[in-house]
Amino acid sequence: MRYIDIDDLVLPANWNARATAAAAKVALGGDPDVDSQVWRDLKDGLGDLSNDKCWYCETPIPRSDNAVDHFRPKGRCSDAATTHNGYRWLAFEKTNYRYSCTFCNSRRKDVSHGTVGGKADRFPLLNEANRLYAPGPLHQEEPALLDPCALDDWELLGCRQEDGSPCASSNDPIVEQRVRASIEVCHLDHEPTCKLRHPLVVKLLSEVAQAKRFFPLSKTDPAMRHEFYEVAKRIKKSIDRKSPFSGELIFILKGQRHTDHPWIQKILES
Ligand SMILES: [Zn+2]
Repeated sequence: MRYIDIDDLVLPANWNARATAAAAKVALGGDPDVDSQVWRDLKDGLGDLSNDKCWYCETPIPRSDNAVDHFRPKGRCSDAATTHNGYRWLAFEKTNYRYSCTFCNSRRKDVSHGTVGGKADRFPLLNEANRLYAPGPLHQEEPALLDPCALDDWELLGCRQEDGSPCASSNDPIVEQRVRASIEVCHLDHEPTCKLRHPLVVKLLSEVAQAKRFFPLSKTDPAMRHEFYEVAKRIKKSIDRKSPFSGELIFILKGQRHTDHPWIQKILES
């Protein structure tokens, strides 16, 4: 996961007027799905913000497969303590949109690997008592799900070196709770996704090991200096925000920091 600044979204001409008109119909009791084309028209713009990667899992996916997810579900909310008809008033609010792959967005069962997930109408909160049932200040709610559009949330998600499966980046109980919720709701432990992620982790660790060997030699040997920079460039590329699973790879790279290797911190900050 990486931070997405949704304010960078480029809106098609006349989009705001169409969204306002559609929201007015919903306020009068209309079904948001009637005007679903309004949010579908943002799909390309939302994809542009992440280099066409899912905002939740960073899997690159063909645009045709992607969906515009409503972070706060528009239809109903199955996590609410009492009947919740969805955050209908946010159906046409652009800041409620997340670009999402089918596995993160739609409820699916992976029978062969025993996992199930997909966001659908899920939206768990840390404290259910604070849930909004009508328009109100959104900051009142503390989402359990990690939000790619919240400045710090992406850094809370890591992955395991041994199999590429998702994990919390710290053992803070709230972080662990939120990561658990995100894994469950967004199906982040979907085995085929972990299998895509794992080889990149293995490659990164092998390049870091190589760079750690080259680095001390690079101080006196120009040929080794060249080799070191070549590997360092590849490491930097793998954590670039355009690269698949870059958030989790940053977590792995952070774990490799060492006082003898200040270049790792430099790459992380670059
Ligand atoms: Zn996804």
